[in-house]
Amino acid sequence: MMKRDYRYIFGPVSSWRLGASLGIDLLSQERKICNFDCLYCQLGGTQAPTRKRRLYVSTDKVLAEIDELPDVAIDTITFSGRGEPTLAQNLGETILAVRAIRREPVAVLTNASLMGREDVHEELRCADIVIAKLDASSQAIFQIVNRPAPGIGFGDVVTGLKKFRADYGGKLALQIMFIRENRDAAQQIAGIAEGMCPNEIQINTPLRPCRESPLSPEVVGGIVRYFHAFRTVSVYECERPSVLSLSPEETLRRRGKVV
Ligand code: SF4
Repeated sequence: MMKRDYRYIFGPVSSWRLGASLGIDLLSQERKICNFDCLYCQLGGTQAPTRKRRLYVSTDKVLAEIDELPDVAIDTITFSGRGEPTLAQNLGETILAVRAIRREPVAVLTNASLMGREDVHEELRCADIVIAKLDASSQAIFQIVNRPAPGIGFGDVVTGLKKFRADYGGKLALQIMFIRENRDAAQQIAGIAEGMCPNEIQINTPLRPCRESPLSPEVVGGIVRYFHAFRTVSVYECERPSVLSLSPEETLRRRGKVV
């Protein structure tokens, strides 16, 4: 594989359902840019939670790096990175620009906090796949597990997700991270998910180093049973694809391994 320092694109993306995925990080700052402070975040704590969308990395810079990509097999192109991608105000513009020059499906990993905003809703509709976080069944569990910035309510997140599903024709997956603090809410979360008609439910537990311990395969297996009405995959069952190795240090940075 080539030796080149990419700053805004990376691979592999730390998602187990996207195959060999090229990551795009429109935030790409030393510190995480997020409006949540999830207990299990592999990037560590959120130092300055922000709800404001702004420009961090220009679309041109991303396109310039994609332009220099060698000929490697890529299954998907995924917007993720060091924080919440919808906080980048050029998300929609960059999705469209990437789609104009690449043939791979475009995915976005989001915590769903801003889906209720009209601009974010419209921008996410440009993606082929949206993988949205849903770790809670109530405001109380939302506060414990996701620790959102002030002003972000669980009810608004649920409403935003349902509204998005109603006019989104692409693949919507709900990714649910189960830890000790929300494992007993699995049945209620499954009930809320029904109103969103997701194409897929991804049951996760933190297998990478973070502040939380993973649930065992047996406990996760019990949780999966509550989601029998959906097409459901769990992190313990899925196949690991062979990965695209691109700029290893930048990939590790997005997993909180390099500061
Ligand atoms: S939403 Fe993602 S980046 Fe933000 S704190 Fe949670 S896990 Fe970390």
